[in-house]
Amino acid sequence: MSMEDEDKKAFHKYALAYNLKKQHSLEDLSLINREKRYVIYARRSTTDEARQQESIPAQVEKCEEFAKRNNLQVVNIIREEKSAKKAGRRDKFTEMLKEIKEGHTYNSILAWHPDRLARNMKESGEIMDMIDSGILADLKFVSFTFNNDSAGFYCYGNMVVDLVEADPKFIPQVSYKDFLSVQNLKKDRVTYHNTEDFLPFRDLVKCADCNCYMIPGRSTSKSKQRYLYVTCSNTECRKKNRQKNEKTSSIRGKVLVDSAIEFLSSNLDINKDLYNDTIREIRKSKASEINELEKTLSTTKANKTKYDKVELSLEKMLFEDETSELLAKKMKDILAKIDKCINEINELEESIAEKEIDLELELPSYDRFVNFFENAVTVLKNTEDPELIDRIVKLVFLNIYVGGKKVLAYDLQEPFSSYVKLKFLHGVEDGT
Ligand SMILES: [Zn+2]
Repeated sequence: MSMEDEDKKAFHKYALAYNLKKQHSLEDLSLINREKRYVIYARRSTTDEARQQESIPAQVEKCEEFAKRNNLQVVNIIREEKSAKKAGRRDKFTEMLKEIKEGHTYNSILAWHPDRLARNMKESGEIMDMIDSGILADLKFVSFTFNNDSAGFYCYGNMVVDLVEADPKFIPQVSYKDFLSVQNLKKDRVTYHNTEDFLPFRDLVKCADCNCYMIPGRSTSKSKQRYLYVTCSNTECRKKNRQKNEKTSSIRGKVLVDSAIEFLSSNLDINKDLYNDTIREIRKSKASEINELEKTLSTTKANKTKYDKVELSLEKMLFEDETSELLAKKMKDILAKIDKCINEINELEESIAEKEIDLELELPSYDRFVNFFENAVTVLKNTEDPELIDRIVKLVFLNIYVGGKKVLAYDLQEPFSSYVKLKFLHGVEDGT
């Protein structure tokens, strides 16, 4: 990082002042000095019960540590156990916002990560409005430095990247709204670690021999240089390669970063019309996925109604002849079928809701898309922050396949993936 700490501070201060001037009247400036009383908000990260048990206390603990370190006054802790896929489902979240609006106990929120707070458009919009109107005095995240400027953050797809940290020349162009509206993660792909022991490229690089995800690690070269690598740790695969006298798939982190830089540099000349077509195509295919799911949902609902009727008549018959084993068995079968329907209906409704949120979530405009990836190249070339590298590389690649010590192939993230496909179909040349 080339920027001195003093400069960085000055930059943040400038961004803060600029945003306040832009968004608030002068009287709102006094908000900065308002006494802040925080509520810690913790929410489970997955539908997995066991992991949920671990993650809420862990989030609270991290938040409490953070509050202590930064002298924040915490007056309440909220632990939300429910899923947040649909707006309005989280009772405690709604209560918390109501409490803040009434302003009796707390006026600021502290959470582990933005994705633990708002998970859909409605909720992030609400939080947004509360910041804008000054009802919410402060919003802090342990795993991100989110000052009330938010100027340094760039959000794209389901990721958030702090580019000012890495590239002082980066021109911020993101608002709170953009920042918060990206928190509708499809799945919790990103896991958070302390920066010191954070190893990038987890769940990204696959061994071309065995198709397993390769494991990142650190090592020291002969010249005493510390470096990062990713290697296949599948014992079967390692054994096979040893027998064939071939090397186990492994690659240096730097090579992966270089391929990301190379890919981005050679694809930045993006055709505007084609890009817009791409976005339209992605939207269309998402909409038709929802359509399909809705069809299945109505069939399942119809089946359930049918089974319910059978259950009712069986119940009558059983009432008259409760000794009949055949009837009892039939009843058991029908109840199992009804249960299965209920489960299917729940799952379908959840995934439709998720996809609808996804569809609502705007894909970046052409200008934002190009601007971001131009900056991303500069950042990748200059930063040594493993988390930042990890995020940017994962914005571009869904999977990277490594064989021997080489990158053999890759799957791209959207909208790159659709863009490249369309480009191929239309035979558009690379800006030549
Ligand atoms: Zn392997």
